[in-house]
Amino acid sequence: MKLQCTDILKNEPVEITFVNNRIQSINQIESTRSLMLLAPALVDIQVNGFSGYDLNVPTVTDEDVCKMVHSLWHVGTGFLCPTVVTASYESISNSFRAIVGACNADSAVAHSILGIHLEGPYISPVDGPRGAHPIEHIRNPDWDEFRRFQDIAEGMIRIVTLAPEKFGAIPFIEKLVSEDIVVAIGHTDASVENIQEAISAGAMLSTHLGNGAHANIKRHPNYIWEQLGSDELWTSLIVDGHHLPPTVVKSMIRAKTLDRCILISDAVALAGMKPGNYQFAGQPVELTEDRCVRLQGTEYLAGSAIELARGIENSVRFAGISLAEAFSLATLQLKKLLGLDNKIDNYDDSTKANMILFYWNSDRFEIDLTMTILNGEIKYQRN
Ligand SMILES: [Zn+2]
Repeated sequence: MKLQCTDILKNEPVEITFVNNRIQSINQIESTRSLMLLAPALVDIQVNGFSGYDLNVPTVTDEDVCKMVHSLWHVGTGFLCPTVVTASYESISNSFRAIVGACNADSAVAHSILGIHLEGPYISPVDGPRGAHPIEHIRNPDWDEFRRFQDIAEGMIRIVTLAPEKFGAIPFIEKLVSEDIVVAIGHTDASVENIQEAISAGAMLSTHLGNGAHANIKRHPNYIWEQLGSDELWTSLIVDGHHLPPTVVKSMIRAKTLDRCILISDAVALAGMKPGNYQFAGQPVELTEDRCVRLQGTEYLAGSAIELARGIENSVRFAGISLAEAFSLATLQLKKLLGLDNKIDNYDDSTKANMILFYWNSDRFEIDLTMTILNGEIKYQRN
């Protein structure tokens, strides 16, 4: 089978030859009439669950993690950081074991998992900043506990989101950074000083800036402006149309520039499920028709129910950036942030390429996925 398409990041037409479900070669061609586009497989560093599989239930198994990763391939997400949130020591440990077990059981899953994102439990207990994290398990940074977690995770913890105002947080950040872990500020009630101290200690990312925040806040200074205006910090954005209004997305992308923004889904298990009332993270939540997950009876969001591709579409729509720029926020930018090797966008060894093929509907701002290829092998193909 041969397919022609255009590489959206390089704006180059190519022809891909497949043999037995695998790429045999990718060759540049003069031109193509095909409207099919090619982009690197998407990278999502904040995934709590998907398609009914929840990384944060105490009963999560290796098999659940494998199935979750496989279901993400169907929506174009080829790489991820499974995200484990605030819970008891036992529950967090069990989630780590399941992720490690999944990587051991399935080499393709191991290829897709770039490391674990630990979001919490060292975050603010205050309503609003806390988001949907269970208050009874929120605690101060504890290096001994973290070391035990990292041992159980077999060194896979790659990103930690914490609140820098917690007791002991600054030396804790310094230790994480010395172990090459990306420290993100999030679910925080930090002062301006707390944020600057965290930056000096090596924090480099704001997790879902503008979310995990008070419903009402002093106009300025506050922890959102301080992070937005600090060029040392990258920011991750949930662009599902609910977590941030369109003009806020546009303002944040412009303030941070494309060089310091990344897109995340922050998807929970309800992503890919029908609207209705569910139990999630031990609390009743409501999934609305327009893919919004709220703590029942409140205005607080409890994670998103989109896939990362929808965030790319919305970024084009909300921020007026090009499709190629929006794709870079979910691919190349992650390679820079995490210091990844070439596997994100290098097709020189085409037999190991990681990419998606799709059509772009510019009237409806829709990505129409046709194929996901990982390590040169077709992992998803729309019938
Ligand atoms: Zn969060």
